[in-house]
Amino acid sequence: MDLIEKLQNGVRLGYEEGVELYELDLVTLGEAADRIRKKLYGKKSFFNINRHINPTNVCKDICKFCAYSASRKNPNRYTMSHDEIVDIARQAWSAGAKEVHVVSAHNPDAGLEWYMGAFRCIRKELPEIHIKALTAAEINFLAESNNMSYDEVVDLMIESGVDSMPGGGAEIFDEKIREYICKGKVTSQQWIDIHRIWHSRGRKSNATMLFGHIESREHRIDHMLRLRKLQDETGGFNAFIPLVYQKENNFLRVSEFPTAQEILKTYAISRILLDNIPHIKAYWVTSSIGLALLAQEFGADDLDGTIQKESIQSAAGADSANGLPMEEFVHLIRNSGFVPVERDSLYNELSRY
Ligand code: SF4
Repeated sequence: MDLIEKLQNGVRLGYEEGVELYELDLVTLGEAADRIRKKLYGKKSFFNINRHINPTNVCKDICKFCAYSASRKNPNRYTMSHDEIVDIARQAWSAGAKEVHVVSAHNPDAGLEWYMGAFRCIRKELPEIHIKALTAAEINFLAESNNMSYDEVVDLMIESGVDSMPGGGAEIFDEKIREYICKGKVTSQQWIDIHRIWHSRGRKSNATMLFGHIESREHRIDHMLRLRKLQDETGGFNAFIPLVYQKENNFLRVSEFPTAQEILKTYAISRILLDNIPHIKAYWVTSSIGLALLAQEFGADDLDGTIQKESIQSAAGADSANGLPMEEFVHLIRNSGFVPVERDSLYNELSRY
């Protein structure tokens, strides 16, 4: 069977075939990914009403691609109090948000109690809101700085009210690229081990991949296949989120940025290769809303959410600082020929528009 026949027959593809997919033309790839997407969800496109909270930008790490951390190029150092965090969550809930997405930097002065106490305070004030919080990189930081095991940190998160884990900190799993772009941060194997532990508690998480910087196509395929392997074992990932690298205000020297065609191919290939991860998310914050809408025809079935406010990607040039109003979000999805479906954080359908 050649590659096209395998694609048509839904045969699971390996590493070499994954790399070969990039050589196919965009239309062939798009059709194959769209077939899979349609079979799973028809014309539905999922989104949720959420609010990102980034409680501190003080970080002990020095990732070259980062524009958010105060230890890199961001001059505005801040750490929120628990009251400030709860106030934001309360306002978000009043504005219709069902989820807070709480991720931040690795602040060596804040302490474990500051991180966990924030979740307990949100939970006490808003018993029904979904708390998605702490990337594997943050969990690794908290474990190392408090001399705790990953199991202990994960159990404490659950006790403190965290419902699910975001997929950040994965960047690119290839060890050499990782050493160059984010030396000292959670390793690839640690990232995978932490998600395995989280899944073993019956909890869900997402997985990201930062692409479009100094990595190659081969590195992206390797990244996807490492995730597919863990998903075969645990089934705990809800969504895969390819994040397009944002180029402003950081220390990573990148000479060539991915074209729209390369970005769409990456969405399509992820839909084809990750046959065991239910959702492919076009995170509009990093791809732009225009390309995210187009990605719906290249395998993506989820456009993330309204966000309301975002500090990490917008520091690096993304047009996401103030999110998107719900009406506009729905209008854009509908106008692109898809059916907007509001979901909760675990992909239960809440309403169709
Ligand atoms: S990407 Fe995260 S861990 Fe790395 S420097 Fe920025 S805030 Fe710190």
